[in-house]
Amino acid sequence: MKTYKGISASPGIVIGKVFVFKHQKLEISDYPIECGSEEKEFQRFIKGRDLAIEQLNCVYNKALSTLGEDEAEIFEGHIELISDEDIEDGVKDLIFSKKMCAEKAATQVMEENAKDMESLDNPYMQERAADLRDIGKRLTYCIAGVSLMSLADIEEPVIIIAEDLTPSDTAQIDKDKVLGFACEVGGSTSHVAIMARTLELPALVGCSSVLHELNNGDEIILDASMGKIITDIDEDTRSEYLNKIKAFFDNKKTLEALKDLPAETLDGHRVELCANIGTDRDVEGAIKHGAEGVGLYRTEFLFMDKPQMPCEDVQMEAYRNVAQAIDGRGIIIRTIDIGGDKSLEYLDFPKELNPFLGWRAIRMCLDTPDIIITQLRAILRASVYGKLRIMFPMIISVKEIRKLKSLVEEVKASLKSEGIPFDENIEVGIMIETPASAVIAPILAKEVDFFSIGTNDLTQYTLAVDRGNEKIAELYQPMHPAVLTLIKNVIDASHAEGKWTGMCGELAGNEIATLLLLGLGLDEFSMSASSISRVKKIIRSVSYSQAKELSEKALSMSTADEIVELLNNYILNLE
Ligand code: PEP
Ligand code: MG
Repeated sequence: MKTYKGISASPGIVIGKVFVFKHQKLEISDYPIECGSEEKEFQRFIKGRDLAIEQLNCVYNKALSTLGEDEAEIFEGHIELISDEDIEDGVKDLIFSKKMCAEKAATQVMEENAKDMESLDNPYMQERAADLRDIGKRLTYCIAGVSLMSLADIEEPVIIIAEDLTPSDTAQIDKDKVLGFACEVGGSTSHVAIMARTLELPALVGCSSVLHELNNGDEIILDASMGKIITDIDEDTRSEYLNKIKAFFDNKKTLEALKDLPAETLDGHRVELCANIGTDRDVEGAIKHGAEGVGLYRTEFLFMDKPQMPCEDVQMEAYRNVAQAIDGRGIIIRTIDIGGDKSLEYLDFPKELNPFLGWRAIRMCLDTPDIIITQLRAILRASVYGKLRIMFPMIISVKEIRKLKSLVEEVKASLKSEGIPFDENIEVGIMIETPASAVIAPILAKEVDFFSIGTNDLTQYTLAVDRGNEKIAELYQPMHPAVLTLIKNVIDASHAEGKWTGMCGELAGNEIATLLLLGLGLDEFSMSASSISRVKKIIRSVSYSQAKELSEKALSMSTADEIVELLNNYILNLE
């Protein structure tokens, strides 16, 4: 038996077979090919193209049997595009006249064609442009003989082992086929960890070396609750874990009974417990766990799932779906928070030395207003279908808020002139996730309707500790006195202005912090839906005055470790 350690990203225990997921990186040579080898190079292209067609035929047949004729038609179109004679001629020309290798020639031809289509300013053609890029990628991989792996291809239930999973990888996970996953990199608030909680899949991050040590088909225990992987399982361990799995599900059932009860202390102080979602599909889970609303809709996933920028109608439909599905409860829609570790294939992001401190979120939006204006139009149009709120991320100054609010007003005015209805009183709030915004919270509170504290970034920026770097995971302490002092400042500042503060960072769903945050006066807690009942249980077992006393004590302590110990012991005594 061998045990590997990792950081728990999403609780749960499973036993299953390993599926090693590796993206092979494709290096395309910039060097000219040798004179005389042109025909050979061209034949490499033909061979690669035929393989790509064969793969697309398989995808087409699979789509036909699982999704039906309409959906499968797309892939028929892809086969037509890739078989086009103009593409073959273009590649041949570049190989023979410019001595390009087949991969480079194919990439260039596909990109040129995509750009031509895009410039036609016709939505149908723009869609074809995105298809061309997608096929171009497959084509280059086929020419190079490197397989393009997709999580959508998994056939039987497995535990995924990967170096990292990008948001678009996780978007392809089919919960019937994936029991859980473990990644070599990442910390508990990295995006892959957040996705795992949303998907309610047991998951570990920061599991160094597992990728090299585990093989496809190995049977393992993934104990994501205790942060470990066990291999070479003996019979005693297997039966011990089968019991643990049963206990995990029994506890889950007990917590489910709290679903419809309010998040209220013994002396009647009530807070709101909401869910964080990444797509409109996550609303179902939010409702299932008794969320009182959506405290954070991370809209960037709507942009990342697509080969091109989703247009106003597509966005509006997604926001409307959430509004209708959540049935009268509030929804905070965070405007696109792209950049940092999240990029868009179709948007030219500069290579930055410090992407987390760089051109991201509203910084990018204020420089390219078309993106945010389209999003604001879509949100406002959807606002007639429910109680939507707008939230801007990564704020550091009043100047930014005023610019963004004036964009909201501009969009409202143009919708009005077009006779399109929207909620005139839609609330506008901001995320407090930079130390700057937390420090000037008393000033910012005058400008907005609400705050939501993003502790994932607030911790990273306050402590100068990368939230996704497993090597310094121990230094990443959301309950560091510096972070807690900022949190208190923010809540007090909002209350002084008669406004409210929520929290949508992962700390909101951390049971150890629940009483501390409650005692500090936090009004709304937004978390992965699966954490709601556990947090609710704790809130319902104390009085507000007890929580206030406890948080005062915690804030008088000097280290995160002391604070965590105090809170942990308090909770243990409650049980
Ligand atoms: C945060 O920073 O706490 C937050 C909720 O935003 P994200 O995790 O998407 O950066
Ligand atoms: Mg953030």
